[in-house]
Amino acid sequence: MNDPLGALGGAMSAFFANAVVQLILYAAFFYMILLWITAAYWAFRDMRDRTENPVLPFLATGLIIMFLPFFFPLGVVVYRVVRPPERLGDVYERNLAEEALLAEVEAVKTCRSCDRRVDAEWIICPWCRQRLNRVCPNCERLVGLDWSLCAWCGKDFEKPVVEQVLGTAPAVSRAPIQAPAISGGSVRGATPRPAGAMSPGEPFAGR
Ligand SMILES: [Zn+2]
Ligand SMILES: [Zn+2]
Repeated sequence: MNDPLGALGGAMSAFFANAVVQLILYAAFFYMILLWITAAYWAFRDMRDRTENPVLPFLATGLIIMFLPFFFPLGVVVYRVVRPPERLGDVYERNLAEEALLAEVEAVKTCRSCDRRVDAEWIICPWCRQRLNRVCPNCERLVGLDWSLCAWCGKDFEKPVVEQVLGTAPAVSRAPIQAPAISGGSVRGATPRPAGAMSPGEPFAGR
């Protein structure tokens, strides 16, 4: 009874004394250590992606370290259970998508007066005749009703009209010629407006 056990013990010690076996054992041990440290670093980075709290990544690393090189896979499992479910980048992306959707909904233009959907390039609501945009007299592009100057060509709508009329010679010379021509029947032509009495919005009223 004593002899077989002694033989087994001798064989075992001879086996572990073998240089190749020892090398393999050391290699396995260092491999586990390497995996352990890598897992701890992974937990640190993963937690940093999921929270803005500066302490939590170190706690996650501590958790992995605590399980020692032999049980750290268990620590990884525990960490995966308790970590925040979403990455900060994902949260940010989701918020961005929601905002984009909201902006798209808000971008749908509706008539101020009748609330029906209107095209952004219409100048008047075809249902209720509400004015939606006006046309710049200088560059003929669409400008908002509340713009104080043209964003396309820079024409200042709030500048006194007198200056503009005097500045453009053809406008002055055309007015007296047109007035007698239409004066027969047209109401608009029959009442020539004094240039100084014009309101800033009026030059576009006829368009
Ligand atoms: Zn309308
Ligand atoms: Zn313009």
